[in-house]
Amino acid sequence: MNPKTVKIDILGIAIDNITMEEAISYVDSLREQNVGGYVVTPNPEIIFHSQEDPELAKLINKARLVVPDGIGVIKAAKTLERPLRGRVPGVELGEAILPSAAARGDRLYIYGAKPGVAEEAGRRLAAKYPGLIICGTSDGYGKDDDALCEKIDAAKPDLMFVCLGTPVQERWMAAHTARFPQCLMFGLGGSVDIYSGTVQRAPKFWRTLNLEWFYRLACQPKRIGRFLKSTPPFLCAVRRQHRAEKKAARQK
Ligand code: UDP
Repeated sequence: MNPKTVKIDILGIAIDNITMEEAISYVDSLREQNVGGYVVTPNPEIIFHSQEDPELAKLINKARLVVPDGIGVIKAAKTLERPLRGRVPGVELGEAILPSAAARGDRLYIYGAKPGVAEEAGRRLAAKYPGLIICGTSDGYGKDDDALCEKIDAAKPDLMFVCLGTPVQERWMAAHTARFPQCLMFGLGGSVDIYSGTVQRAPKFWRTLNLEWFYRLACQPKRIGRFLKSTPPFLCAVRRQHRAEKKAARQK
């Protein structure tokens, strides 16, 4: 299956209309062909900012897979009357690909977060998925990119979790695709904090109510500013896109 054939345009970002199962099987097929590139998990924040940054939009749209990470993206697609088939949260996708990665004996590099976090995430994931090789880890606060790249080269990863927050991680992956052509990279933001146990994911109750975003804001109030600057304007911009599309359809 090639999910690239089914796309939903939200403010210029082409989201793959894909379920979690299809995303896993597409990732497996890329791995079986030894194909690199990168997977992005956009939320309203990055989609909104990419409107003012055509380069960012371009590099997101060049990803092998652009999955609908958050409920804001699902709601936007509904507003545009092109509903997405389901949410594919990056934190879940990152883990869902690991059973088959472990069965293949894939090598995973974890890059990002504060010192010690990627190592702990690696320890926990290796224990949970025997067969998976954690071939290296680096925190996301180093300044020497050449040294980092040499370390990654030597580790020869098949998969890499790049957890630097958006849009830094998307820019990093796009800039390093040619350097690591056989490594499939995933931009996973704060997921490494969750894999390491440093941060707890919202309990199931909140997730079922689609209120994970609210739980995150309540636990990390410093996110509120970022949220207010991006999510309400994102939803307004989506409504404007919808009105413009309706108008264009009437004029046809
Ligand atoms: N981070 C990093 N280097 C930086 C800034 C941030 O490695 O220079 C890490 C940060 O420690 C955290 C992740 O990037 O682990 C971003 O998490 P956040 O929850 O902000 O990202 P989101 O999931 O919202 O994209």
